[in-house]
Amino acid sequence: MNILVLGSGGREHALAWKLHQSEKVKNLYVAPGNAGTAAFATNLPLSAEDFPAIREQVLAHGIDLLLVGPEVPLVMGIHDYFLADPALASIPVIGPAKEAARLEGSKDFAKQFMQRHQIPTAAYQSFGAGQLEAACGFLETLEPPYVLKADGLAAGKGVLILDSLEEAKLALKEMLVEAKFGEASSRVVIEEFLSGIELSCFVLTDGKDYKILPTAKDYKRIGEGDTGLNTGGMGAVSPVPFADGAFMEKVEQRIVLPTISGLQKEGIPYTGFVFIGLIKVGEDPFVIEYNVRMGDPETEVVIPRIESDLADLLQAVAIGKLREAELRVSTETAATVMMVSGGYPEKYEKGHAISGLEQVEGATVYHAGTALNAAGEAVTSGGRVLAVTAFGADHGKALQKAYENVRRVKFKGAYYRKDIGFDL
Ligand code: ATP
Repeated sequence: MNILVLGSGGREHALAWKLHQSEKVKNLYVAPGNAGTAAFATNLPLSAEDFPAIREQVLAHGIDLLLVGPEVPLVMGIHDYFLADPALASIPVIGPAKEAARLEGSKDFAKQFMQRHQIPTAAYQSFGAGQLEAACGFLETLEPPYVLKADGLAAGKGVLILDSLEEAKLALKEMLVEAKFGEASSRVVIEEFLSGIELSCFVLTDGKDYKILPTAKDYKRIGEGDTGLNTGGMGAVSPVPFADGAFMEKVEQRIVLPTISGLQKEGIPYTGFVFIGLIKVGEDPFVIEYNVRMGDPETEVVIPRIESDLADLLQAVAIGKLREAELRVSTETAATVMMVSGGYPEKYEKGHAISGLEQVEGATVYHAGTALNAAGEAVTSGGRVLAVTAFGADHGKALQKAYENVRRVKFKGAYYRKDIGFDL
């Protein structure tokens, strides 16, 4: 089987790394990929959002299956693009079509979906551009802190949590009237604040059946103790100790089942990963958000724990036979620590040489923001640069091994959080 993975981050490196281990995979391509994927796959220099270029390469390389890493091509409708083209229609796309991708692309759609299927989530109302007054009125009925969410995609920056009513009203005006997040905030979801501890649940589905993949917890803030600006993610651990069997049973019965059967009942086909952002309030799970793809850096701990052949699982999704597929998961804990460029998530430099990768022992380094320079050496090319993943009998041991290896890798200005897993 020839597989093309779309994307260029640590998530895509981890997915491609796992597919590379499969005997079923003959040729593996990543577009655009990074310096890490170049070591074992063929990188294709094209944007994951350039559908005509993807079409050309898919046909040129005889691709049998497309795995979409990031959300943007899914929300833009890459799956629909394939279905509508006679030359591509028979090639399975792992990642949902546009309608289902609205679970991530529109928070209002996701909330309505959850309401229709009685899936536990924070109470909410949503408001459009002409409804500032009504929106402020709704805010007044809530207790602080206030949660405001731009309806559309805003690269993880569209959620504001504000302590005072005045700040919340001002932010609401900026979003609805002054288009703070552009078109994404032309509608705003205002929801009740839930107090609890967050985790992520990942599901692979063919639209009828599903497999619940390992849980993970990620660390989004740049600073230790979960302080400072939000990032794409600074580290992750899998499994999550507080997501025990009893809790996961609730997640499956109250959330996963109604989500998959809800999609089916509404006639919305779904092939691919569902990432369910959860919050544990007391002993009960609530949905914070849906994403229609794997998370990053969670993929760098979830995928390495899967012992089954990923190509087999994806093939089963493609032919609607996921029920018959086998999912084996390692009982060990995986932890990943993200090494980022100095200054990230604000301004940072690129192009710095990376050294020490060959000294890494007992860990896997997934490249996120790296590229090959003219001499064929790996250099930094993004804010999040490398995810260093290690295994251990528990999260403490896995993290110790990950950190031992983080210290072996060097690039100018490198920064990483030293407290991943501190709250477990
Ligand atoms: P991501 O960066 O994960 O893509 P996003 O922009 O899609 O995020 P959400 O995941 O909906 O937005 O919210 C971002 C964060 O805001 C959550 O991880 C959570 O910490 C916090 N949050 C969102 N909704 C609530 C809520 N109702 N109660 C408490 N915290 C919340």
